[in-house]
Amino acid sequence: MALTGLQIQKLLPKTNCKECGSNTCLAFAMKLAAKKAELSECPYASEEAKQVLGAASEPPVKTIELGPKKNLKIGGETVLYRHEKTFVNQTALAINLNDTDSMESIDTAFAAIASYSLYRVGETLTLDLIALTQKGKDPRHFSNLAKRIWEKASKPLILRSCDLASTRQAAEAVKGSGSILSAATLESAKELLPIAQECGHALAITAENLDELVLLVEKLKTKGFNDLILQLQTHSPAEQFQTNSVARRAALKDSCKALGYPFLHFIENPDLLASTSEAILEINKYGSIVVLPGFNPAQLASLLTLRLNIYTDPQKPIQVEPKVYAIGDPTPNSPIFVTTNFSLTYFVVSGEIENSGISAWLVVPECEGMSVLTAWAAGKFNGTVISKFVKEIGLAEKVQRRELVIPGYVAQISGELEENLPGWKVLVGPQEAADLESFIKTRLS
Ligand code: SF4
Repeated sequence: MALTGLQIQKLLPKTNCKECGSNTCLAFAMKLAAKKAELSECPYASEEAKQVLGAASEPPVKTIELGPKKNLKIGGETVLYRHEKTFVNQTALAINLNDTDSMESIDTAFAAIASYSLYRVGETLTLDLIALTQKGKDPRHFSNLAKRIWEKASKPLILRSCDLASTRQAAEAVKGSGSILSAATLESAKELLPIAQECGHALAITAENLDELVLLVEKLKTKGFNDLILQLQTHSPAEQFQTNSVARRAALKDSCKALGYPFLHFIENPDLLASTSEAILEINKYGSIVVLPGFNPAQLASLLTLRLNIYTDPQKPIQVEPKVYAIGDPTPNSPIFVTTNFSLTYFVVSGEIENSGISAWLVVPECEGMSVLTAWAAGKFNGTVISKFVKEIGLAEKVQRRELVIPGYVAQISGELEENLPGWKVLVGPQEAADLESFIKTRLS
């Protein structure tokens, strides 16, 4: 929980020596509370102050880092609702494979998983992990499969097994992969904990209810292990929704540290509609890792797109790089369109130009990711801004055509733009991108 300036001041030496750059310890405490200073700037801070302030600055949901380079992060959340601030680490998606599946079907699924990617608004989206569930009884087969998948995919695994010997063998086979062992219970935690510690894996833990889960977390924390992931047991989507919400609220609002860990959820129902709605629930309500029962590219496209929307910072619009884009294979005489660098605007406009079947240039100045009318109202998309950008990128040297098509919504800037770009003609395009195709056919051909 965040400390106030007065609470922080009580932890400082109160000598007002000014060595931190503030006139008093209170002024420095206020800066710390506002996160405008670091405690290390006070050379006389006590160990107690370092401990208390260090704990207070940790997010209420612990960040767990997975993968060999620890670059897959889950958890770290600080708010219940996206509009309060932003969600930090997006829900990781995984596909489950069973050790009882034929080698041929595992290889087929595996190849599809490894090569899958989806391009959306300038980002390439892929799967994050692969889960391997032991349904058979052969520890060696389970660990061999884990090793094979890890070596081929280089993605962290979720090793799900009820058998201790199998878990140990598989965990050792993928040592250093930063995977997850699923799942320790009150009974098995004692044996699983040293395996996770020795092999550098995170430990998923599970219990029948939240009270038992809290007990288990506290038990493991006393052993100094903190790379924990909560695998909540629920029996219906309604219970899943309720349990996730109760646990996350307890962590964020009631400072219940034992529930302040990321959540892992396996979807068992193979029905496409049911598994999709369960995954949607998890992406919206606090799932940190969702394991899908099988590989379906249509389902993944929907879920990855939803995830992109939920985990985009609403305060920072998605932007494309300001530059001149080639659509198709344009020549120096191809038409030149202008729009803003708000991703959605860029992709809609470029898509409509592509659909019209022509090649063209698309000039996209820096507009702080705003749409056309918003950018115009904010003074970020006007004759001065566009003409300055056209000169900076040397457009006149790239093309022979001297005609810019601007969006119909900003027809009023055409005069200013022509004044700032002598020798250029400005054509007012349609207001809606959907009308670009007919505009191109009637006005540019
Ligand atoms: Fe107070 Fe430390 Fe700053 Fe000195 S350096 S004024 S003791 S906070």
